[in-house]
Amino acid sequence: MRKWVFAFILVILLSYGISQLNVKSAGEDKVDIENGSLPQQDSKMITVSKEQMYKGDLLLVNNDYALHPEGIRSDIVSLSDRPDLVQGYGLLDPSIQLSESVAKDFGEMVEGAKKDGVEHFLISSGYRDAEKQDQLYRDMGHDYALPAYHSEHNLGLSLDIGSTTAKMDEAEEGKWLKKHAWEYGFILRYPKGKEDITGIQYEPWHFRYVGKAHSAIMYKQDLTLEQYLDKLKQTKAMSITAGGQKYTVAYYPMVGSGATIQVQNGKPYEVSGNNYDGVIVTMYA
Ligand SMILES: [Zn+2]
Repeated sequence: MRKWVFAFILVILLSYGISQLNVKSAGEDKVDIENGSLPQQDSKMITVSKEQMYKGDLLLVNNDYALHPEGIRSDIVSLSDRPDLVQGYGLLDPSIQLSESVAKDFGEMVEGAKKDGVEHFLISSGYRDAEKQDQLYRDMGHDYALPAYHSEHNLGLSLDIGSTTAKMDEAEEGKWLKKHAWEYGFILRYPKGKEDITGIQYEPWHFRYVGKAHSAIMYKQDLTLEQYLDKLKQTKAMSITAGGQKYTVAYYPMVGSGATIQVQNGKPYEVSGNNYDGVIVTMYA
C-alpha cells in the first residue's frame, strides 16, 4: 500500500515538473540562433553596388565612421504633423523628426508596453540634420555630442526616449525597454559596461532601430552593434528564429565596386551595408 502511495506521489511530482518545464518554454520568447552556412538549393547569386555599403538599417556610425549622405533615411517625417503616428506618447518639442517606418515600429512598441501597464513615454530627440548636429556639437562639446555625420541621429534610425515620471534609468519605461525593445527591432545602443567598445557613456535613453532579426541576436548574445558586425564578419552566416519568423543573416565583403551575394529564389530579403567594408543580407525563410 505504501508503495502505491509513493508511486502516486512520484507521478504527481513528475507531471508537475514537466508542466513547469512547458510553462517556462512557452512563456519565454523562443529564440534559436545557429551559426551556419547558407542553404545551397534554389538560390541565385546577385551583385550589389558599392553604394549599398553606405545604406540600410545596420550602418555603423560612430566616431570612426561617418555616414554617407545616401545613408540618411528617405522617409523622414515631422512627427507633430503626423498625429496618426504619434499615439500614446508625447513629444518633448514639436520639431522632432524621425524615419516614418521607425516611428511605426516605435508606435507598436509603445502599444506593447501599454499592455504591461507601462505608458509614460516621450520622444526627446529623433532625426537631426548635419546643421543641427553641428550646432549641438559646438554647444555641448565633444564629451557630450558627436560631430556632424558621426551621430546615429543623423541617420533617422535613432531616437532618445524619455519617461514623464522619472529618469530613464529608474523609470518603468526605461526598465521595460531594456527588456523588450529587441522584440520590436530596437537596441539599447550604448549600454553600461560597453563604453570602451561604443566609445560613448551609458545612455539609457538612446535606442537604435536595426531590424528584428538583428536586435534579437544582439540582445540574446549581449552584443553591441560594433561587436555584432564583427561577429557576422567572422561567422559569415547565422540563422535565427525569433517571434515565429525564421531568418538567415549573412555577411559579404565589398570587393572593388561590388559584392556578390547569395539569395534564395522567391524569398524576400533585405540588404544593408555596414558602412565600412561589406554588406549584410537578411533573408526571410
Ligand atoms: Zn541619442
